[in-house]
Amino acid sequence: MEAFVADIFTSAGCSTEEGGRIGRYMVSANLSGHDSHGVVRVPRYATQKKNGTVLPDVIVDIVVDTPVIAVVDGKYGFGQTVTPQAVRIGIDKCRKNGLAAVTLRNAGHVGRVGDWAEMAAEAGLVSIHFVNASGSVLVAPHGGVERRFSTAPYCVGVPRPGQDPLVLDFATSIVAEGKVLVASQGGKKVPEGALVGPDGKPSSDPHLLYGDYTPTGPRDHSKGTGAIQAFGDHKGSGLAFMCELLGGSLSGNGATDPKRGRFANGMLSFYVDPKVLDPAGFFPTDIAKYVDFVKSSKPAADGGEILLPGEPEVRMRAQRLAEGVPLPDNTWAAIVETARSVGLDERRIQQATM
Ligand code: NAD
Repeated sequence: MEAFVADIFTSAGCSTEEGGRIGRYMVSANLSGHDSHGVVRVPRYATQKKNGTVLPDVIVDIVVDTPVIAVVDGKYGFGQTVTPQAVRIGIDKCRKNGLAAVTLRNAGHVGRVGDWAEMAAEAGLVSIHFVNASGSVLVAPHGGVERRFSTAPYCVGVPRPGQDPLVLDFATSIVAEGKVLVASQGGKKVPEGALVGPDGKPSSDPHLLYGDYTPTGPRDHSKGTGAIQAFGDHKGSGLAFMCELLGGSLSGNGATDPKRGRFANGMLSFYVDPKVLDPAGFFPTDIAKYVDFVKSSKPAADGGEILLPGEPEVRMRAQRLAEGVPLPDNTWAAIVETARSVGLDERRIQQATM
């Protein structure tokens, strides 16, 4: 799947390296169980490439550069290309100084934000990310039915020596938009109340977001009359608002604005080196102790289990690596249609279809 997606984007005009990165990060989202950020997005990324709203093989500009701060302009490059550059800058600054703050503006879709927390965790760093998606107005604020926020994800990553990192990574909406996209293609349904109609009624119907659509046709979220709901009532809605201000306004990306036609993710990331903050090594020992304490809570349901942030993704990765990634037929059909539309060799398409 990675190689097929890579070939599609190489055919669409990206370098082999960029095609490979897009394939790798998309499939990594599927493997983690976040199909919303996986290969379901192939048609959308290809359309963005075709109409020039996302540009291939961009080298970022560093607009502000101090020992601990960088302001990075992604210049509408693919998120899978410009985001690792911004994260690398943050990691390098943090390793030198113990702390770094890096903003990224005008990035193509950065995908699963957890990928970037995992990249920092691999370098031994704690990271916190506030993200917005300007041009993608999808979510109603607490108490409202009209869209005012993007799905504005928030993410925290904590490394653990010799173990998988702890990664909290979620959209501040009840579901990420991609989950509604997956549901609209016949995949897993979104929970009732994840969406709200213009009449204020809770719903799970993807048509409220996209209006009318055909099974493999494009989904245009400007066509729907409803909204996704912010999670956690006033608390989640407040966190979404702060993601807009920090990931959007402070980064120079701009808070979500319906008049901005072009999609752009903005991100404010903080990086902390625990080795500088905690030279005595108390942190990993205390985490281990606390994890045991948290997991020892009596489950609410018989046979239930307490999971840590990042644990469902680690388990899903192991399961899907062993058993494969299930894809709804419509998703696969839309990917094949995209492969043809970018002129990928028919034999290559047949080979992938077998
Ligand atoms: P989600 O609702 O599945 O929540 C995922 C988080 O909750 C993870 O940290 C996971 O480990 C944790 N979790 C899940 N079940 C758990 C359990 N039973 N116990 C303990 N922890 C548990 O995620 P989502 O809101 O649907 O977001 C999906 C993805 O979409 C994220 O990776 C996010 O970064 C991404 N996203 C990206 C954008 C963008 O513009 N690039 C926008 C929105 C969302």
